[in-house]
Amino acid sequence: MLERIRIVLVNTSHPGNIGAVARAMKTMGLTKLVLVSPDEFPHPYATSRAAGADDILAQAMVVESLADAVADCQLVVGTSARQRKVPWPLVNPRECAQQLLAEAQQGEVALIFGREEHGLTNDELAMCQLHVHIPANETYSSLNLGAAVQVMTYEIRMQALQLTQSQSLEALSGHDAPLATSAELEHLYQHLEQTLQQINFLKSASAHSMMTKLRRIYQRARLERQEVQILRGILSQTQNKSKNK
Ligand code: SAH
Repeated sequence: MLERIRIVLVNTSHPGNIGAVARAMKTMGLTKLVLVSPDEFPHPYATSRAAGADDILAQAMVVESLADAVADCQLVVGTSARQRKVPWPLVNPRECAQQLLAEAQQGEVALIFGREEHGLTNDELAMCQLHVHIPANETYSSLNLGAAVQVMTYEIRMQALQLTQSQSLEALSGHDAPLATSAELEHLYQHLEQTLQQINFLKSASAHSMMTKLRRIYQRARLERQEVQILRGILSQTQNKSKNK
């Protein structure tokens, strides 16, 4: 199951941190690393900080956008070192590990880490169903990237070790129908935005923040694949009717 949990690093600036992340992952039994447009990779600093976890670096996938990194994932969790403008469902690392493992039973899941300087943008956080915060010192809450990955992957390992054979992970996850993937959800949001523009619901000044609020509703709902099809059917019909008026 650990192989279905991917660690995604967005726009990392220091290659040494990528190496530290590979080491943190390997010590906890995770193998899948995805890098979204890293500033410098591969790099000798990455290899030296990986300290023998260079197999993780060698297998790491490099992609251009966060959407590409998580397209096939049913659960995307974003990490945040501080409170953001639009509050999102927020869990602690232990609860996060529990949910990641439960859902990894069914499909691919991702845990996203941000830039050393600025973390994740609000738009990137809006691509997640859940946010996780490591409850650090309120007046000094930002961990080094490698340290944050170590804390999260330790919780994932502890959870994996605790799960006994008798515990049904499927029961924990609570879903039997397939959940929509991140790519399917992104298509739904594009379709929704187009439709809302067509029926003049979106005012250009507030369109972006309205779309973020609507995303929050749907991200919270954990839509199944079939439910996305129903919603898109409604949107198509709305578009047709509004064209024919
Ligand atoms: N200055 C940035 C923090 C960047 S730290 C900010 O204010 O957002 C780099 C990354 O490490 C973050 O994007 C996040 O992925 C992770 N991280 C650091 N501290 C964290 C914390 N307390 N909880 C969760 N993730 C954390």
